[in-house]
Amino acid sequence: MFSKVLIANRGEIALRILRACKELGIQTVAVHSTADADAMHVRLADESVCIGPAPAKDSYLNIPSILAACEITGAEAVHPGYGFLSENSRFAQILEEHNIAFIGPSSHHIDIMGDKIEAKRTAKELGIPVVPGSEGGVTDDGEAKRIAQEIGYPVIIKAASGGGGRGMKVAKNEKEISVALSTARTEAKAAFGDDAVYIEKYLGKPRHIEVQVLGDGKGRAVHLGERDCSLQRRHQKVWEEANGPSITPEERESIGMICANAVAKMGYSGAGTVEFLYEDGEFYFIEMNTRLQVEHPVTERITNVDIVYEQIRIAAGMEMTVKQEDVQFWGHAIEVRINAEDPETFAPSPGTISYYHPAGGVGVRVDSGVYQGYKIPPYYDSLIGKLIVHGRTRAECLQRLNRALDEFVVDGVKTTLPLFRKLIKEPDVIAGNYDIHWLEKYLGM
Ligand code: ADP
Repeated sequence: MFSKVLIANRGEIALRILRACKELGIQTVAVHSTADADAMHVRLADESVCIGPAPAKDSYLNIPSILAACEITGAEAVHPGYGFLSENSRFAQILEEHNIAFIGPSSHHIDIMGDKIEAKRTAKELGIPVVPGSEGGVTDDGEAKRIAQEIGYPVIIKAASGGGGRGMKVAKNEKEISVALSTARTEAKAAFGDDAVYIEKYLGKPRHIEVQVLGDGKGRAVHLGERDCSLQRRHQKVWEEANGPSITPEERESIGMICANAVAKMGYSGAGTVEFLYEDGEFYFIEMNTRLQVEHPVTERITNVDIVYEQIRIAAGMEMTVKQEDVQFWGHAIEVRINAEDPETFAPSPGTISYYHPAGGVGVRVDSGVYQGYKIPPYYDSLIGKLIVHGRTRAECLQRLNRALDEFVVDGVKTTLPLFRKLIKEPDVIAGNYDIHWLEKYLGM
């Protein structure tokens, strides 16, 4: 096992990783920007290093600074968390070259999944069901029209290097193809420096279902079931559940094993998430995230597997402690993302938290790095905490969430808590009856 790990992230996830390290008896190094000197993970870490000024590009994305922090402190491994450098294959490779372990998959696997055309091709080869569409990239109108004709309208044109829901254009008929293709390519070039795009069938009312996997890098892998993350706004998840309310135990077993077998065959190492759109009983692969996800706690809660603990063990070359036959799904868990944002306009609301009282009690977990008097800096994403609630049934989970939301107090800044207090009273939410467009329709977008 490692004796010292550097946590290359901030906020709630830095604290989450720090907690796992402490429980494993590993020394922790926090790195932080000047804006985060007072952060909780910095206070609780054994050592801390300031790696640059507030803008992320000068600090949390600054590879030479992070490498220097590793050298100074003698850290043997780096946990990248999510966002920032977590899916940067160059970072993983540079660490490999410096004999520092990257707590994540190989740079090769990050590269494959970072190119969505390559990812889709790989997934298909490994037996994962994909959205019908072009075999590879598409460049000219004629080819685009021919493929669209084959798969049927509407179609969606997507950027190979896409992320965050950007660079996607829908064409409802042949007349719209040319414009959709050229705007998707222009936007992709501007946003990602790569104009490669591909076409697939546009699904009208899918749910977002994702499967959590763990691979040991030596050909063994397990799945930990799925999460339903359909409640999204602008492709940002706001509410996540496990198990998925619409997924049967048979579907869970079947899609889970397809993913576990694929990941095993790849020789994939660490935690990963295989994302699908799910419509009319069919799963359609859209992408694989080669990192820990924000919503991992709902899976931890129903499986009793500590995903970060397993990630660290795997990176250290140790056996996973999870065996597929031992994985069981206990009850139901829901996570809501508490963002420092106006609950109606979603405008960021940085500032000082004047009063803070998190919910507690049976079945409640709060992952957050904030405290009373904490000043939320304006430079980073607005996630300030996650409320994760468990119940023996989905109904009990909802009741407990309702109770926990009533208890939770964050004063001094606006948060998304009032939105959840409204959502939990919506009949569709109570029934688990929503697709990926439900929330935007509800919000009148
Ligand atoms: P990104 O990496 O930018 O998040 P994804 O491929 O994960 O891109 O897609 C993001 C979102 O775009 C999906 O969650 C879904 O809402 C929508 N989307 C992507 N592909 C399709 C499709 N074939 N049909 C309908 N919606 C889609």
